[in-house]
Order: sequence, then structure tokens, then C-alpha cells
Amino acid sequence: MTGKPRAFSGIQPTGGIHIGNYLGAIRNWVLQQDQYDNIFSIVDLHAMTLPYDASELRSRTIEVASALLAAGIDPQRSILFVQSDVREHTELCWILGTLATFGELRRMTQFKEKSKGSERVGAGLFFYPVLQAADIILYDAAVVPVGEDQKQHIELTRDLALRFNNTFGETFVVPEPDIKPAGARIMSLADPTKKMSKSDPDPDSRIELRDPPDEIRRKVRRAVTDSGAEVRFDEERKPAISNLLTIYSLFADVSIPELERRYAGKGYSEFKRDLAEVIITGLQPIQQRLDELAANPGIVIRTLQAGAARARALASAKMAVVRERCGLGLPPLD
Ligand code: AMP
Repeated sequence: MTGKPRAFSGIQPTGGIHIGNYLGAIRNWVLQQDQYDNIFSIVDLHAMTLPYDASELRSRTIEVASALLAAGIDPQRSILFVQSDVREHTELCWILGTLATFGELRRMTQFKEKSKGSERVGAGLFFYPVLQAADIILYDAAVVPVGEDQKQHIELTRDLALRFNNTFGETFVVPEPDIKPAGARIMSLADPTKKMSKSDPDPDSRIELRDPPDEIRRKVRRAVTDSGAEVRFDEERKPAISNLLTIYSLFADVSIPELERRYAGKGYSEFKRDLAEVIITGLQPIQQRLDELAANPGIVIRTLQAGAARARALASAKMAVVRERCGLGLPPLD
């Protein structure tokens, strides 16, 4: 279409977007928007793989779409759509499921973590990475910008694309993950050994895009620090301060060594006070656009409808080829 490589990524409408999602993924999508032919999806089918409240899913979908638009995803330059609006994802998921093995799905870290301790593990949770692979290769995406936690899923996607090509003939582009070293894994403010997560029961462990300034100041003040008093980057010995330095550096666009120089001889509390202001300033324009969109949900819905129409056109053309390669359906007449 544009001659640029295609990028695809997705995000689940499972709760408030936090600064881990923003710094690890969304911000990079926005910064690279001109470099790629972009498709971004709110993956509502993935959000069904753990128990959820059906009466809330639609509003969460609109909330996440609003957050992406507010963060700078531009529907002129990127296709933004809701996964379940394009039926081809589920069809390709089934086909790829016939190629994926029980053994490789069982080894997925996210599956192991999310199923741990539950008595009833849904088969959908097990199949989650197969649907993700379908999302990506359906559009022949070359690049998948994500946080570190998705690396294993993208490797599986590559394996399934290759397996399909080897079995049925060259059909899919084999994608590469795009994981930036800085921000790929923003840690919890309450426990720097865990990643910041939407599903953490402690809401003070994360800063959400919508948090008001005073809430951000409170959460940063309460954030766990390490022993000692030096503001220094050392992920081994000072994981909490290193995480806060990463957040500061990305929001303020100042390198970590420069921040270490600025805060040499100063304590954690001064550093944290400034960090809160840097986050507040960074989120301010996003929050303003979020308010504007909240007053006008029709804009978001129409953007998603238009995005789905564009995605559907690409997906249906690709699936016609896939069905033929797999021997599905009827032969053409004469
Ligand atoms: P999810 O919230 O699981 O739908 O993730 C959406 C995107 O945010 C994915 O690309 C994740 O890799 C990324 N992400 C989620 N949590 C973090 C985190 N703590 N640090 C960096 N990136 C993250």
C-alpha cells in the first residue's frame, strides 16, 4: 500500500492503561508511526480468556481506544480497530491451532502464570498465543512493537508462520519483535521484582494514564525504594531506583547518566518529588485529549468502525489465499 514495512500490535481492554503499557509499547507505536504501515487492535477476544464482566467489556474497549488516540495514534496514518469486528482472526486462529502443538503451548510463560493456582483453566487461555499469532500474520506484519513480556509469544508466532509456509507453501511474512531496551519492562511501584500490571490487586503499584496529579504525587511518594540514599542506576542492587530512573528518563527525555549527575548528593525524596512532576507534565496533554474524547464518544466509535472496514478488506483478501492453500471450501466453477 505505502511500500513501508507493516507493523501490527495489540492491547487488551482489560483495565486502565498504565505507564508500563505507555512506555513499553504505546509511546513507541506513536513515535514510529511514520516509519511503518501501522495496524493497531484492541484485542477484546483475548480479554475473554480470563473471567471477565461482559457488561464492562465494551466500555473498556472504548476506553482503551480513547487512550490510544489521546496518546497520539493518528487514524490517518494507522488503522485502529477492534479485533472481534474482523472475523478472520478467529478463523485463522483455528487453522494455526491445527499446526501448534500441545507441548509448545504448555510451555508459554504467560499461560503458566495466568493458570497458576486456578482450578478451572479455560482452553481459551491455552489458545491465547495462537490467536495472537493469527492477529499478526493475517496482515503480513513484518514488525511487532511490544514490551518484553510478549517476546515468547512473538517467537511462537514466527514458528507458526514458518510451519504454515513449509506445510502449505510460502504464504505469510515471518514477523520480528521490536522491543526497545529502555522501558520494555516497567516494574511495579510496590515491588520492583514484578512487572507493572493491570491485574495487580494493589492499585498503588501502577500509575494509570488517567490518574490526577495528586494521585500521581501520592503514588510516587509511596513507591518502594532501595536501601542506601544514592540515586544511581543498578538493576541488580537498586532495582526500585533503577525503575524510577527509567521512568524519569523516558518521560523527560534525559539520559540516565545525566539524571545520576543531577541528583548526585541529593536524596530520594527530592528525586521523587521531581519525578512526580515529570510524569504529570508528560501525561497532561494525553489527559486533556482523553477528556475531549470522553465528551464525544461518537468520534471514537466512528474511528473504530472505519478502521475495522479497512482491516476487514486486508484480512478477507488474505484469508481467500489461506483457504485455497489449505484446501478448504469449494473449487471454482469451470
Ligand atoms: P497488555 O496490558 O498485556 O494488553 O499489554 C499491552 C502492551 O503493553 C504489550 O505490548 C505489553 O508488552 C506492554 N506492557 C505491559 N506491561 C508492561 C510493563 N510493565 N512494562 C513495559 N511494557 C508493558
